[in-house]
Amino acid sequence: MPVLFVGHGSPMNIVLKNSYTESLVKTATKIPKPKAILVISAHWLTNGTFVTCVKKPRTIHDFYGFPDELYNISYPSPGSQENAQLATKTVKSTHVKCGNWGLDHAAWAILRHMYPAADVPVFEMSLDYSPFNDWNPKSLEFHYKLGSELAPLREKGVLIIGSGNIVHNLGLIDFDIDAKPFEWAVNFDEKAKQCLVSGNHKGLINYLELGKEAHYAVPTQDHYLPMIYAIGLQTKGEALKFIHEGFQNGSVSMRAFQIG
Ligand code: ZN
Repeated sequence: MPVLFVGHGSPMNIVLKNSYTESLVKTATKIPKPKAILVISAHWLTNGTFVTCVKKPRTIHDFYGFPDELYNISYPSPGSQENAQLATKTVKSTHVKCGNWGLDHAAWAILRHMYPAADVPVFEMSLDYSPFNDWNPKSLEFHYKLGSELAPLREKGVLIIGSGNIVHNLGLIDFDIDAKPFEWAVNFDEKAKQCLVSGNHKGLINYLELGKEAHYAVPTQDHYLPMIYAIGLQTKGEALKFIHEGFQNGSVSMRAFQIG
């Protein structure tokens, strides 16, 4: 099963139709239908690492100040207790625990476009933010290793999706979703792209060394880390292709890619 990283951007994408949402629809038709989906979520930050082991995950509307229609949407996919349990066993570098979280918008904002029937079981994995130290690259290696240990799930037909954004600076967003992107955002996104193209995982782990724009592009690591999990799952020489490129709100890169 391939691995995806998707830049999810604004919750408005839940109800929009644009080149980004169309790329999600297209991707879903091109890859084999998964037995289950694991989303590594930029919006579930925990002390320790958790997976949702619930039978029926609730839809979490974890965004504020958006139009009412977004809060009336639910994504009633079943959970995947069996694969969540498997994830707790395949990861050895840390103790993955079962949690009661539902599906936050990092998951359902994407899946609503990919699998509108909500007929594929879905579970999430959280990001351990406890050893988190913004400027300690060692913590990124922790996440990279953890991602790599999820590989057995791919063989079971689980589609693993890292959901965040490579460039994500909410402090500097333009409220116009189609705003021209900032130069630093374009530069950092391009450098990350080059690392992805050349398989330079070290460059992405040590992203602060990519240039001074890294501080603007990744002011906090929550949206960047799901991408680290995705590349952790790339085997040597395995193909990587971009399924979408672009920006929203000036300071958010919508870059998405598929491994395998
Ligand atoms: Zn987000």
